[in-house]
Amino acid sequence: MNDTIFGKIIRRELPASIVYEDDEVLGFKDIAPQAPVHVLFIPKAVHVPTLDDLTPEQAFLVGKLILAAAQYARDEGFAQNGYRVVMNCRQDAGQTVYHIHLHLLAGAPLGHFGVPGR
Ligand code: 5GP
Repeated sequence: MNDTIFGKIIRRELPASIVYEDDEVLGFKDIAPQAPVHVLFIPKAVHVPTLDDLTPEQAFLVGKLILAAAQYARDEGFAQNGYRVVMNCRQDAGQTVYHIHLHLLAGAPLGHFGVPGR
């Protein structure tokens, strides 16, 4: 059972601004955006708390998240300008929701490794 906030969003128990969905991935706007575009991509069917819990059999999920983000960037017309994807693992990286997710940040120059506002 995925009792995280993102589990509730997957089950539509919590509202979210969903901008992308396919068979395996859900994409929705971050509630506290750190860039003009800030979308989170999560696996829908499998609950993996952190990247450190990912098994070799589940590795394809990360590829699915990245492909979803790349597709969204093309669809929204900012792929050519560029974007950043980030995954945080546990406390030192600032992970707050323990269901793996890919941050997509875009819409302005982000600075090397820096994320505005953090
Ligand atoms: P983390 O810090 O774990 O890498 O990223 C979790 C992200 O989830 C944060 O950027 C935070 O703003 C976002 N977040 C937390 N709660 C909610 C929520 O209820 N709805 C949405 N859309 N985003 C959330």
